Amino acid sequence: MDFNLTPEEQSFRQEVRDFLAAELPPPEERGAGFIVEFWKKIRAKRWIGFSWPEEVGGGGGSIMQQFILKEQLVEAQAPILGSDYTGLHWVGPAIIQFGTPEQKARYIPEILDSQSIWCTGYSEPDVGSDLASLQCRAIREGDTYVVNGQKIWTTLAHLAKSIFLMVRTDPESSKHDGITCLLVPMDTPGIEVQRVHNMGVGGHGDMLNQVFFNDVRVPAELRLGAEGQGWEIICSALQGERSGITDVNRHSNALEDLRGLAARSQRNGRPALEDASVRRKLGSFEARIEAMRLNGMRALTHQLRGNLHPSEASINKLHNCDLLVEMSDLALELQGGAASYYGKEDAVIEAGRWQLAALSWPATVIGGGTPNVQKNIIAERMLGLPKD
Ligand SMILES: Cc1cc2nc3c(=O)[nH]c(=O)nc-3n(C[C@H](O)[C@H](O)[C@H](O)COP(=O)(O)OP(=O)(O)OC[C@H]3O[C@@H](n4cnc5c(N)ncnc54)[C@H](O)[C@@H]3O)c2cc1C
Repeated sequence: MDFNLTPEEQSFRQEVRDFLAAELPPPEERGAGFIVEFWKKIRAKRWIGFSWPEEVGGGGGSIMQQFILKEQLVEAQAPILGSDYTGLHWVGPAIIQFGTPEQKARYIPEILDSQSIWCTGYSEPDVGSDLASLQCRAIREGDTYVVNGQKIWTTLAHLAKSIFLMVRTDPESSKHDGITCLLVPMDTPGIEVQRVHNMGVGGHGDMLNQVFFNDVRVPAELRLGAEGQGWEIICSALQGERSGITDVNRHSNALEDLRGLAARSQRNGRPALEDASVRRKLGSFEARIEAMRLNGMRALTHQLRGNLHPSEASINKLHNCDLLVEMSDLALELQGGAASYYGKEDAVIEAGRWQLAALSWPATVIGGGTPNVQKNIIAERMLGLPKD
């Protein structure tokens, strides 16, 4: 691992720093309309879709430049880039890799210009971790697929313009081979979205849904890749920088705040920091965040050398989940009885941000694959342990 930046990389980092110093006001001064203007300026720099090829409108940036950009954005507490997280992180890369020229021309510019919102139709009521068992069915009739079935936990389906939908087209072949990907407009007749309540925000929270498909007719030209290529698309749709550096920096910032909370808290009338167990926990968080950073740097190094092992992202996902859960736990423990208050009253500590973190962690821990599934990936694919 060589953590030193080349002169070109240093100069790119300076360019990002200068831009952020000029264009990014502190969080408390960002008024209505700020985010859309910021996206426009960032887009003009081609830093949205920065690692995408220039011929589709991306920035043509290297993995290392993308890492530097992300690091600087998180450090400056910049908002996420662009309106369409799903489009930018897996739908766009999949369309670039597997799409027809028409599909690229139709979808990529709107993703880059924050004009799209995609949702992901993978999970079903009985299918999550074992995704290859999905049952939502599509039958080919001439130039059309007719889709019937149900998806669940579909983030943003109620706002999305399109769904990145995995369907079973061939129930006879092996479970991985019979899956096909369709790019379906959400206003197609026969699609019904129902909201699912989220415990973190005590309501829908503009997030999770279930989606029903009743004789939904999808033109065959909206199929991504070949029939039966869905599993390959699922496995390869993530590209770009995979170090998890954004999570590392977020945890570092949260740990600073947690230390502040500990310094202000009392335990049986004594400063909480006099308690060795509190100090031990804070020390362990610091060590684990550093381990996560180094693991991220190792993943980045492997990626730059073209030999990134997919399980490396699983290691950081596990660290990420454990830190989220344990740090919010300690924050509530430090608050004592006040931990049960949430809202804007004076008695509520830091406007209930730690309470919200404690209620919200299942979203991060479960979404995108549970810790058990990550452990299976590490055990089988990295350590070569046998499947039981
Ligand atoms: C906030 C959030 C957003 C989401 N967004 C989307 C979305 O936009 N689109 C989408 O398609 N899905 C989405 N999901 C669904 C998510 O991908 C699934 O919930 C997740 O993959 C787990 O699947 P499941 O809920 O069916 O649980 P299951 O797979 O039934 O798992 C239940 C329990 O069994 C354990 N388990 C399962 N298999 C194994 C095994 N082989 N070994 C050991 N333990 C195992 C799991 O770890 C878990 O503890 C979202 C979920 C959340 C929480």
